[in-house]
Parts: sequence; structure tokens; C-alpha cells
Amino acid sequence: MKNRMALLVIDMLNDFLYGKLRCERCQRIIPNVRKLIQYSRENGIPVIYVCDSHIKNDSEFEKWPEHAVQGTKGSEIIPELKPREEDFIIKKRRYSAFFQTGLDSLLRELKIGEIIICGILTDICVQHTAADAFYRGYKTIIPKECTESLSDEAKEYSFRVMENLYNTRIVSLSEFIS
Ligand code: ZN
Repeated sequence: MKNRMALLVIDMLNDFLYGKLRCERCQRIIPNVRKLIQYSRENGIPVIYVCDSHIKNDSEFEKWPEHAVQGTKGSEIIPELKPREEDFIIKKRRYSAFFQTGLDSLLRELKIGEIIICGILTDICVQHTAADAFYRGYKTIIPKECTESLSDEAKEYSFRVMENLYNTRIVSLSEFIS
């Protein structure tokens, strides 16, 4: 039997696309992520937004400039990808969507075996989430036009790491939604 799937949309937030840690390269994937979300909704695949939501003076800010502080506009999902009422939202304070969040129990309640991952950045939050998914026995698949990083090199290297270490399937979006 095919694994039941869920879609994770990682960190498509104002601060990362347009704000404090603005990434212009990342803006290119917005239409692709929209398509993937739409496909998921049409096919009964639960859509789970995973969003950085930091406390003030979060220790992560010793490494990165302040971003996505809870309650600020920067921490909100970009308007182009507005969640619907039936979607799920998981807030995180570290790279991995699993670290001290309710994601694992949510996926178990939904009887999910395979996670489609999209969003940013490929080599940071996406990759750490793929690793944590692997540790917990979930399969992972990434439509490659639906994630982005600060350079092609960083993205491609991360794809290889995830394929080699976590058995992640890296596929094209058109292949996936056809
Ligand atoms: Zn963060």
C-alpha cells in the first residue's frame, strides 16, 4: 500500500522572503510551492506549515540576525501562500521541524508515512527536517523546484546529502504532480 503523505511547507515567512533575512533567490519558488499546495489540497494530502517563531533574544540570534520573532509581521506566512482553515501550523524555534514541536505526534495521528518537504532553506531547515524525519522512520520526498538556498552549490550539495544519508527522493515538480 502506498504511504499516506503530508506536505510540509517550511519557513515561507515574510522575514525570509521579503524582510530581515530577505532572500531574492527564494522568491522564485513561490509559484511552484503554490502549485504543490494546490495539488496537495486537491488530492487530500494534509498541508502542514512549519514556521520559525522565535522568542525575543532567542539563542539562535547568536548565530543569525534577529528574525521571525513571534507576534511580528516578519514571522507571518507570506500572503501568496496563505493557509486555509483546514491546514495545520507548527511553530518551531530551531532548524528542524521536529525539534520540540508537536509535528511527530500530529503526523502519527494523521497516519502519515511519507513527507513531502518544500520551502527554505534547502541546506538548513529543510535538510535538518529530512534528517529528523529519517531518524523517526518517515520517508521523504522533495520536488526540487519547490526549495531554494543561497546558492546553487549549497542546494545541490544538500540534495546529495539528503539522498545519500536520509534516502530522500529528489524529484521534479512536474514528475511529482503528474
Ligand atoms: Zn530561526
